[in-house]
Amino acid sequence: MATLLKGIEVVNGMKESLSSRVLELKRKGKTPCLGIVRIGERPDDLSYEKGAVKRCSGIGLLCKVFNFPADVSNEEFIQEFKKINADESVHGLLVFRPMPKHIDEEAVKGIISPEKDMDCMSPANIAKVFAADETGYAPCTPQAVMELLKHFGIPLKGKRVTLVGRSMVVGKPLSMLLLKEHATITICHTRTADLAGECRKAEILIAAAGVPKMVKDSFVNEGATVIDVGINVDENGNLCGDVDFESVEPVAGSITPVPGGVGTVTTSVLAMHVIEACEKGEALGRPS
Ligand code: NDP
Repeated sequence: MATLLKGIEVVNGMKESLSSRVLELKRKGKTPCLGIVRIGERPDDLSYEKGAVKRCSGIGLLCKVFNFPADVSNEEFIQEFKKINADESVHGLLVFRPMPKHIDEEAVKGIISPEKDMDCMSPANIAKVFAADETGYAPCTPQAVMELLKHFGIPLKGKRVTLVGRSMVVGKPLSMLLLKEHATITICHTRTADLAGECRKAEILIAAAGVPKMVKDSFVNEGATVIDVGINVDENGNLCGDVDFESVEPVAGSITPVPGGVGTVTTSVLAMHVIEACEKGEALGRPS
């Protein structure tokens, strides 16, 4: 039976140190504040927002939600976004994406200050991830995978890691974070010739394809660590990952559940980024 890599254990492990960093900031008269920018009322955004506010508040952070109607004009949104970005009481921003088609998302990426960009949408932060420069902010989900591997003491140096997925949200930045820890990476995608064969070579297999239950037992080397980043809805309307848990669990050495795996850790990483942004501002002598 595989060891279950539960996200809540990682969250609990991070909570103590994050809470004490917040207390230290509060002693200096600063309270880290997350600004959440949302256009419309997409159920996925609302559910993530609820979790993020709960997690951040639980650690002692302030949260401000800037909600715009789905039909806000591009001009009005950009004007308001510039004000939010300039608001010194907000240390870090989470902007829900994809934004509606009529909003110029590229312009938003250019406006957001890299020091406030908590989920790596600005070109400066993306470049830093690819340059292994830790002064930026990596996207929260790939970093949540790294926190989970670290928490459970899963070594990466010299290990064969296969990733399924090459998006800019998960696959590509995650491959860079893993490479920085000296793993040997294979990145698979829809044109990969022998997907199951590539996956079987992995000591650590990471699925981020967005295809419900596509990773079967035939993809997994006996005893491998299996990390499931996928969040999908199955034919019965239940949440499921990209890994067919029932078939893979007996073969894997350890495995993340969905729900309750990587996704659970993401909001703790977000909180960590906001605390870091506030600490950096404090070190520079910023007023709020
Ligand atoms: P994208 O759709 O942007 O990218 C999916 C990637 O997987 C692409 O590179 C695609 O290849 C590849 N892929 C898709 N189908 C197959 C297949 N049959 N065989 C091989 N490769 C395939 O998805 P995201 O990266 O945004 O998200 C991936 C998953 O992670 C989703 O389930 C999403 O819900 C979840 N997610 C979870 C988060 C969390 O907090 N846990 C946060 C963000 C995402 P190609 O490039 O060739 O098209």
